[in-house]
Amino acid sequence: MKTWALFIPITALGLLTMTIPASKTETHSHTEMHSKVEFHPVTVEELERFHGHLGPNVAMGARMGEHAVTVHKIPKYFGLTVVVECPAEPPGSCIIDGLQAATGATMGKKNIRHVQADEFKVTISQNGTDNKVTYTLKSSTKELLKKWTDEGVDVEEGGLRIFKMKAEELFEIE
Ligand SMILES: [Zn+2]
Repeated sequence: MKTWALFIPITALGLLTMTIPASKTETHSHTEMHSKVEFHPVTVEELERFHGHLGPNVAMGARMGEHAVTVHKIPKYFGLTVVVECPAEPPGSCIIDGLQAATGATMGKKNIRHVQADEFKVTISQNGTDNKVTYTLKSSTKELLKKWTDEGVDVEEGGLRIFKMKAEELFEIE
């Protein structure tokens, strides 16, 4: 009985190690990859579908990301790095999802990184170049968000309002 009890786990382990080299062959280097996905600016429906709801922070992330890939010609999906300084928890951290939706930089591809901070600061750069853009909130944007909170403006409504604004209106862009 004891020999059988040992034999089975060892066999199972053997099978497990045999499957590892097979999965390794599927790896691909992202450094040379370019996406064949056609670019179009993220829509409000796509943003809502991805994040699960609309809000000011996810909308701000989308506005920053879209500005970077259109105005600053930062590549989408691959060949870019996004560093997001923002609070650790939602609603502040919701900005990360807006950036993922608009730039195609994702947690899975490891080309978007979160740095915990009280204030929003987002840096989007094209890898291997000095093409880089940084976004921070204008004081007028901070005031606007505070005003809406004080007035009891619905989160979804606030998100929609931000989504309709231009990046230049919302952010200091450097
Ligand atoms: Zn959210």
